[in-house]
Amino acid sequence: MVWQIDLSGKCIVVTGGNRGIGLAISHQVAQAGAHVAILYRQSEDAPEIAKGIAEKYDVRCVAYKCDVTDQKAVQELFRTIYHDVGPVGGVVCNAGVSHHKPALEYTKEDFYKTFEPNVWGVFVAAQAAALLWKEHQYQNGRIVFISSVSGTVANKGIAQAFYNPSKSALTMLAKALSMEWAPMGILVNVVSPGYVDTDMNQSLRDDAKARKEVEDATFVGRLSTPDEQASPTVFFLSDQASYITGSELIVDGGYSAW
Ligand code: NDP
Repeated sequence: MVWQIDLSGKCIVVTGGNRGIGLAISHQVAQAGAHVAILYRQSEDAPEIAKGIAEKYDVRCVAYKCDVTDQKAVQELFRTIYHDVGPVGGVVCNAGVSHHKPALEYTKEDFYKTFEPNVWGVFVAAQAAALLWKEHQYQNGRIVFISSVSGTVANKGIAQAFYNPSKSALTMLAKALSMEWAPMGILVNVVSPGYVDTDMNQSLRDDAKARKEVEDATFVGRLSTPDEQASPTVFFLSDQASYITGSELIVDGGYSAW
């Protein structure tokens, strides 16, 4: 049997698809034949990046500036994407932020700064897709949350007491939505990366000692590439994953396995 992932004819929405893990996902879904809609918050080069992906893989790829926490804007945008880019077949809720600060200093603003994009924003994009699929009676929708191994383990020496629960919330959100939306043909799964070499980990690029400590804490002895997180994400979007829902795949090189 030839085992090839084919997403042609669908549009995949990738929130935060203009850089880091999201960018690798945008490339891989385009390589699998999908049209791509990238949602970004502020990066000025996002439209150029989308243009490059479109040309490289001969698909439609458009970047839309849209804050994932704005429910009304996201719902309207999904309709625009459906008509302008292609029938939405999947959404990857990847956009997220991480803040480090001792818990004794936290305020309510700090709580919202993390939970709004990481939990509410993930829900908003998933809900916008589900509403669209209900409207079009589309029965094969796929949703993937990009969570984190930090939803399972507290990273030694890193004060991120709001980031951790914002990510573990996604595991239960996926289970709850997979239960509610399975009758609509929607599958919801989670990819939980370990440490990935992206802008979010700029401090590890700047500090060789800290990077070595993280590398040594994995079994494979290194950080993940963004592509190594994109591959399992694309799998969850594919026909090959048709019986998987409400599940979480930890992709951390063994970081949390001991
Ligand atoms: P980056 O910081 O490199 O990129 C974050 C992306 O999210 C950017 O595209 C940014 O857009 C977008 N974004 C952030 N907030 C919003 C918002 N409110 N609305 C729309 N877009 C938004 O992150 P990574 O690629 O490293 O991480 C991606 C996901 O993976 C995150 O959810 C993160 O928590 C998770 N993760 C990352 C790990 C890592 O080691 N890097 C480990 C585990 C999980 P813009 O460029 O316009 O600002």
